[in-house]
Amino acid sequence: MERKMTEQELLETFDEALTGGHIFVTYQPKINHSTGRMIGAEALMRWSHPEFGMQYPSDFIPVLEKHDLIYRADLAVFESVCRFLKGCISDGVTPVPISVNMSRYDILNRNEYVDEIEGLRAKYEIPVKYIHVEVTETSAIGGMELVSGVLKRLHDYGYIVEMDDFGSGYSSLNVLKDLAVDVIKLDMRFLSGSIGGRGGTIISAIVQMAKWLGTPVIAEGVETMEQADYMKSVGCKYVQGYLYSKPVREEEFRQKLGQLEHEPMTPALDLIKTMDAGKFWDPSSMETLIFNNFVGGAVIFTYQDGKAEILRVNKKYVKEIGMNMLEQEILDSDPFAGMDEHNRMVYQDALYRAIQSNDEESCETWRTVCSKTCGEDKICLRSFIRMIGRTENQYLFYAMVQNITAERKRFDSMFENEQRFKHAFDQANVYAWEVDIATREMRPCFRCMRDLNVPPLVQNYPEPLIHAGVFPPDYADMYREWMRQIESGEVDQLEGIIPLTVGRIPFHVRYTLERDETGRPLKAYGSATLVVDGEDKE
Ligand code: C2E
Ligand code: CA
Ligand code: CA
Repeated sequence: MERKMTEQELLETFDEALTGGHIFVTYQPKINHSTGRMIGAEALMRWSHPEFGMQYPSDFIPVLEKHDLIYRADLAVFESVCRFLKGCISDGVTPVPISVNMSRYDILNRNEYVDEIEGLRAKYEIPVKYIHVEVTETSAIGGMELVSGVLKRLHDYGYIVEMDDFGSGYSSLNVLKDLAVDVIKLDMRFLSGSIGGRGGTIISAIVQMAKWLGTPVIAEGVETMEQADYMKSVGCKYVQGYLYSKPVREEEFRQKLGQLEHEPMTPALDLIKTMDAGKFWDPSSMETLIFNNFVGGAVIFTYQDGKAEILRVNKKYVKEIGMNMLEQEILDSDPFAGMDEHNRMVYQDALYRAIQSNDEESCETWRTVCSKTCGEDKICLRSFIRMIGRTENQYLFYAMVQNITAERKRFDSMFENEQRFKHAFDQANVYAWEVDIATREMRPCFRCMRDLNVPPLVQNYPEPLIHAGVFPPDYADMYREWMRQIESGEVDQLEGIIPLTVGRIPFHVRYTLERDETGRPLKAYGSATLVVDGEDKE
């Protein structure tokens, strides 16, 4: 009759289960969700009793742990994995790295455990790259020194160590910073039902932090496509869970090995080597000191598929943005959300240039920022952007910024005034131009260009226009005399009626002279309005 075994029954049949092969291993693939390829698998223990049927770890592992028997089961699993790998290798089937669970009781109670597994690995001559060790986050409860010591010994032998059940709650981020693990396993079940909400924020913060540490993240317990896609969107493409496969027996897994393509796991981001990513989070480190004090406003962000996410800003960046913003407000904001289509394109163009050139690229963009204290405002930032890390489709950028809002506003209002001025002229049928006295360059207004065919810049004014017939020959000398009086500064104003063009259309022409501080003639502003019935037409 199939049923859950009692503690007593488990203990009584344990030895028999080990020797009789009732305790065995199932394998669950770990997949790169971007490529569909297998990157590894986890060995999961099963106990199938001849009479009571399948027993699950949640029922028998606590019993084995309680009675200090778990290490024997774990060593049996380890040996079974070695045998499996050995079989693959000798049959010419390329395996993937298999991760084996290490109970926290193996760490706490079994000083020789690491040497024991290493002995098995050596006995079966398995290259160490094919075995990973999973250590749960809660092992740290037993004391950091103990775990650190075990991790160091595993590393010395060359094992990759994966932190299991990350996010299950035990001071996660600190553990991550202090323990030298190579891979992080984030369990979706600890964060379920919260995609997009608080859980989502935590997930993406963990993934981002892991990226900074250069540590790959595997999402486990992934059951739906939605979860896998979400994880990919926050930068975690490795998944393990029912979505791709339940844990399967050895024979079936061996078939999968042959069917599915494999690929190695790669670090989350290949940070430039000169920047120590680990230290980057330590407020007292030299890296932080440099980031905060020896550069201007600086921001570090990731960019993927048109989405940017700010990872870090320094104090000067916060100052540069102004608006009394809190660092957290900046970190929480989507940098592209405040940009309109045009500005976003300008900025993305600079990003692409930085990717292509592998050098610093700059751009100026307007964006709307919103702060608790100041509300909303538009600011203009000049950014100097450099790519400092990349994966196949995600980029890491470092940008120095200057707030040039005031500068741009001055420039724009000047430009606006000029536009308005031109507009007014247009409406009043006024033709206008200016002459630079020193260079004899004349710049006409739009109407002169359109109606009188004057080019945008006339050199050696007024000769080309006399030659072109804008000024009729009989008025040429009179007009040259006007120019002479203006150039010499004899007059400040001049006006008269001149028939212009071959059509001899009468215009009221006026000149006003502008002088520099010393009184020397600088520019002459000319205007012409059409004369109708002896009157100026306004
Ligand atoms: P774990 O190490 O976190 O292993 C992952 C567990 O999640 C496995 O449960 C796996 O079958 C299950 N799982 C995988 N994908 C999904 C999914 O999409 N949805 C859901 N709901 N579950 C999924 P399992 O095999 O029952 O193992 C439970 C726990 O028992 C393991 O958690 C691990 O802590 C422990 N365990 C399993 N095998 C061993 C072992 O050989 N040694 C030791 N010390 N502990 C083991
Ligand atoms: Ca595990
Ligand atoms: Ca786990």
